[in-house]
Amino acid sequence: MAQGKRPTVLIAEDEESLREALKLNLELEGYDVATVDNGPGVLKMVKSEYFDLIILDIMLPETDGITICETIRLQHNDVPILFLSARNTGADRVEGLKKGGDDYMTKPFNLEELLLRVDKLITKNKRIKDPQGVPDSYEFAGCKIDFAAHTCLDKDGVEQELSKKEAALLKLLIEHEGDVVSREQILQLVWGYNVYPTTRTIDNFILNFRKFFELDSRNPKHFHSIRGIGYRFTK
Ligand code: CA
Repeated sequence: MAQGKRPTVLIAEDEESLREALKLNLELEGYDVATVDNGPGVLKMVKSEYFDLIILDIMLPETDGITICETIRLQHNDVPILFLSARNTGADRVEGLKKGGDDYMTKPFNLEELLLRVDKLITKNKRIKDPQGVPDSYEFAGCKIDFAAHTCLDKDGVEQELSKKEAALLKLLIEHEGDVVSREQILQLVWGYNVYPTTRTIDNFILNFRKFFELDSRNPKHFHSIRGIGYRFTK
């Protein structure tokens, strides 16, 4: 798998034998797998860990999969979701996709087909999240960033050191210039898998960037926070 990082998959399935079979087979394919057997547990895990994909059974104890998917999307989390359903009805399928699911399979399913779809969903999502890189040095508003050397010239022309994570976050925001980068993307790409800082940690990074690059850090022109969603850089 690319970049030496194993993609992580969450299996939400209350049927033990199916859950264990899926886990085993996904692990054999090189994924890191976590499992959960009830609805509220899914939401809890998604809040505290990053996943590349969720395999989500529709008929789950306490909260059904479709409601869970809807809730995850309302939290601005665009993790790919593959629904599993015991019922082969068109209505279920439409409802699942309407509420933000990416794919849908009916039980019993062909395991090989499921593995192919999992791979496809994860690859597609990675392509969206890893856009064309920016060059090693970048200039805007009289400031200059050297991503390779982890330094920048601030608004006063003073050279400042950047930590590895600061450089990575700057690069990510600049690559998406004009677009909001979600908290999820930042966590995945800057902090790496399964190590979650608080929102305040990201906010502190943004405050530092404003000190370096904004003429008036209280009225930022370049580093914007979009409450509850993420952050945006504009030139
Ligand atoms: Ca079930």
